[in-house]
Amino acid sequence: MQLYNTATHRKEEFHPLTEKQVTMYCCGPTVYNYAHIGNMRTYIFEDLLGRTLRLHWSLKHVMNVTDVGHLVSDADDGEDKMELGAAREGKSAWDIAKFYEQKFFADYDALHCTRPTVISRATAHIKQMIALVKTLEEKGYTYRTSDGIYYDTSKFPRYDALVGRSRLEGLKGGARVEMSEEKKNPTDFALWKFSPKDKKRQMEWDSPWGVGFPGWHIECSAMAMEYLGPTIDIHCGGIDHVSVHHTNEIAQSEAATGKPYVRFWVHGEFLVLRAGKMSKSGGTFVTLETLREKGYDPLDYRYLCLTAHYRTQLEFTYESLDSARKSLQTLRKEVLAAKAAACAEISAEKVNAAKAKFQAAMEDDLNAPKALAVVWEVLRGAELNAAEKTEFVKFADSILSLDLFRAPEEKTEKLPAEVEAILQERAAARKAKDFKKSDELRDKLAALGYRVKDTPQGAQVEKI
Ligand code: AMP
Ligand code: ZN
Repeated sequence: MQLYNTATHRKEEFHPLTEKQVTMYCCGPTVYNYAHIGNMRTYIFEDLLGRTLRLHWSLKHVMNVTDVGHLVSDADDGEDKMELGAAREGKSAWDIAKFYEQKFFADYDALHCTRPTVISRATAHIKQMIALVKTLEEKGYTYRTSDGIYYDTSKFPRYDALVGRSRLEGLKGGARVEMSEEKKNPTDFALWKFSPKDKKRQMEWDSPWGVGFPGWHIECSAMAMEYLGPTIDIHCGGIDHVSVHHTNEIAQSEAATGKPYVRFWVHGEFLVLRAGKMSKSGGTFVTLETLREKGYDPLDYRYLCLTAHYRTQLEFTYESLDSARKSLQTLRKEVLAAKAAACAEISAEKVNAAKAKFQAAMEDDLNAPKALAVVWEVLRGAELNAAEKTEFVKFADSILSLDLFRAPEEKTEKLPAEVEAILQERAAARKAKDFKKSDELRDKLAALGYRVKDTPQGAQVEKI
């Protein structure tokens, strides 16, 4: 299997460290608000990766839930997003975390993302985080400021491993503008923050350095190590995490263990709106619920995500969602037609050849658009008979997970009152055997953009 590794900037052959099991860590949601469909694009790509890996190996997939410590600003100041959510809604930070975690997993399930093997909440791993900060302190990587314990990035020579030296210089320039006077280097970051003296925090813990809460980056390092050991096979996340969050995870983890932290860094590109970035904090975001309210099925969105490679930006528009929905419905119709006609003998060889073509696309750095094209090709082609096509689609859908055997939805769209009235008039004319009038009314419907077909069950109407 070929996977693009952000750390080496190229596609590489993937093999797990141990023969049987792949270890994978994916950064999870910060549960202070609803997840938007951009976030969900990342989880869909991670799900595709997980499903493809499972064709060869067993998978231990860990995902964290950030329920404390993710500050509004990457520069380690500003408020904790959880406490902000609590203030916004007049609930406790704990209730906010519980509520949005539950909402998140409802969306996650609806999009057919496979639940991770371990879901770990940051607030349940404070002990491990403190232990990790202590190790870093003992090894001389930390210093104290008036607001917390910081990581000294100048002590870690490989700090540019993910972003590269030139981009790192740019980042430093940006960070310097908002750099607190006590920080030694612009890229230094908080491992442990002290609770403010003038305000009581809802989420805080005792530590060897004083009452406070963990930095966001230390959460992922501590939980990844807790469940997957010092070196993990694959670490995923959205592209926005490369320059700060994952760069900091590497620095903390490798300084503490002296071992490589991650073998393959795999990052998904963003879903964007024409107006620009979709962001939770910006308040301009579309949720799965928004799509549902507009009559879309969550799997219409999953299909849309599969039409773009995970490393290319995807611009979200309702037109593209409409066409994804249409394609999915047509695909399901064709699959059901194949299933209904599937009574011929099956040639395992032919089915396996089609499966191999599909699998090769997925194993080429998760080329889902190509894999989808293989499904269309096989269904529309004459190479396989209906029974073989059905077998093939069962396999393809175990990866795509688009419910391809689901019966297409009944048309629930209401007809305009004018069309309804003409239809009734026409039914009466036909009953009275007035076919001239019936034909006139059919033309009238056509002029309004509707085609009518007479079947033994009555007239059926569709938009032209
Ligand atoms: P968050 O809940 O903000 O920590 O983000 C959860 C996941 O969604 C992370 O892996 C982010 O990198 C990813 N993400 C955030 N915004 C987008 C977006 N617009 N498109 C795709 N992924 C995103
Ligand atoms: Zn993370």
